[in-house]
Amino acid sequence: MHGDIERILIPQEKIAARVRELAREITADHTPPAVSGEAEISIVPILTGAMIFTADLIRHVPIAMKIGLMTVSSYPGRSIRTQGSSVLGQQLGDVRGRHVLLIDDILDSGGTLKLVVPLVKELGAETVKTCVLLRKDRPAARETPVDYVGFEIPDEFVVGYGLDYNDYYRNLPDIVVLKQDVIGRS
Ligand code: 5GP
Ligand code: MG
Repeated sequence: MHGDIERILIPQEKIAARVRELAREITADHTPPAVSGEAEISIVPILTGAMIFTADLIRHVPIAMKIGLMTVSSYPGRSIRTQGSSVLGQQLGDVRGRHVLLIDDILDSGGTLKLVVPLVKELGAETVKTCVLLRKDRPAARETPVDYVGFEIPDEFVVGYGLDYNDYYRNLPDIVVLKQDVIGRS
């Protein structure tokens, strides 16, 4: 697995530091005086990619929360370009009247958030905010509204810290670029 890495784009220490900063921002935005009354949110990681990011983030957000799940596929199998997003499954719980924070690993074409944000609103959420760990440097990503962004990265295919290629590499602690010959190898 480690022999497949071309270079480390974001090392784990930098990810951990930024995740804590994001958690502080999110906590402040959901605590009085930023909101009136007791803060309570529903966290919804978009699986599978946001699993590790969400697990690390929420342990630094000390406010009452429920967790819902949503599985969206956009880069199935060996794809390194979006094939269009589709919802594969959801276990959101009742989001009616709740403040929902959707969490995704990476913002690329924007297709995932454009699909999921209206869906959660239609289910009756009071507010829907979005948080992504990574945003690619491309117009479609920059033009997609998002409330919290961890890192801006070049328009390259990355894996690690939850992000996969053909379902592998999610357990790499760093965000990395794979060697060219790994992509497309069967
Ligand atoms: P979007 O819907 O904004 O095009 O892309 C979001 C989804 O596409 C992400 O949740 C992720 O699953 C996948 N994706 C986009 N770019 C990358 C990438 O560079 N690497 C990996 N592993 N997945 C990506
Ligand atoms: Mg994803």
